[in-house]
Amino acid sequence: MLTKKWTVDNVDPLKMNYPQLKEAAALLQQEEVVAFPTETVYGLGANALSDQAVQKIFEAKGRPGDNPLIVHITKKEQLTDLVDNLPEVAEKLMQAFWPGPLTLVLKSRDSVSKYVTAGLDTLAVRMPDHPVALALMEVSGLPLAAPSANLSGKPSPTTAAHVDEDLDGKIAGIVDGGPTGVGLESTVVDCTTEIPIILRPGGVTKEQLEAVVGQVEVDPALTSQDQAPKSPGMKYTHYAPVAPVFLVEGGLDFLKETILRAQKDGKKVGLLVTEETKFELGEAGDVMLTCGTRSDLSTVATNLYDVLRAFNSTDVDIIFSETFPKTGVGAAIMNRLDKAAGQKIISER
Ligand code: AMP
Ligand code: MG
Repeated sequence: MLTKKWTVDNVDPLKMNYPQLKEAAALLQQEEVVAFPTETVYGLGANALSDQAVQKIFEAKGRPGDNPLIVHITKKEQLTDLVDNLPEVAEKLMQAFWPGPLTLVLKSRDSVSKYVTAGLDTLAVRMPDHPVALALMEVSGLPLAAPSANLSGKPSPTTAAHVDEDLDGKIAGIVDGGPTGVGLESTVVDCTTEIPIILRPGGVTKEQLEAVVGQVEVDPALTSQDQAPKSPGMKYTHYAPVAPVFLVEGGLDFLKETILRAQKDGKKVGLLVTEETKFELGEAGDVMLTCGTRSDLSTVATNLYDVLRAFNSTDVDIIFSETFPKTGVGAAIMNRLDKAAGQKIISER
């Protein structure tokens, strides 16, 4: 399949006369799938109401059929057709964080394709905060089911080039709207329970949620191996570059020893570190890639997937990553790093 590519800069969401977006929207109306930027990562969109279109998402990504999709909307009014009874908690969260990187799990009205929900009686919905995503949905007039636009198991795409790398020839089109900002996927919150539960940590932090609705729980399966996560997608290994990733917990000397030990074993060592650690380490390892600064962890979120992908164009045999406190956006960063590492941790203690 020929993948059409468009570039759209500085879209004014109130103006709908962008020829690129008209073409992309026409393909979506013809049951095709098109990748587009959101503020979190690039999404792979399809008409959420069409079985045929939604199936194409699963095919292109190689995504397991039991992993449901998030439906993206542009107006709250669209919810009337999509979900039953909106709890007050959901209203408050929408008010505070939409458009933005927050997905709400609500009672489904079963109006979307059965492939979207993967047989669940709930539906995940979000209003993205990106002019291109919003304009594309406005022009097409469709709610879009859209997972991240990567091959299943690969790091999510934060640029159109990442999407191209994974899906060129497999999808109808890619709208390039520049690099995404947040860099990690949305926070998924189950609003069907008395107390809302974070099913996936993401761009909106637990602390921010609690400031709006009081107590918020975290799905215990996110920190324990013994339980099945309530969000089906969380059980899959994700975000992994080709070389194995190990999280290194401990002081600078311990990191240096760990690097030298691996090099002694004949391994080429890749290092995923912050600017601060790079400065403290000096010359170390074989390939050192920096992901941002410890003084503002949102920079780490923005760069993480790009850096994980970048290791694939090096010849390292093993990757050591530094770790972060699991508070604020650090919770989402550590959740993705844990998955990239498949829980492999080398600890000083
Ligand atoms: P992605 O679109 O690749 O960011 O993945 C979407 C995430 O949302 C996956 O982890 C899904 O399992 C999760 N998800 C989607 N719909 C639901 C739902 N109805 N209930 C729980 N989790 C969901
Ligand atoms: Mg994904």
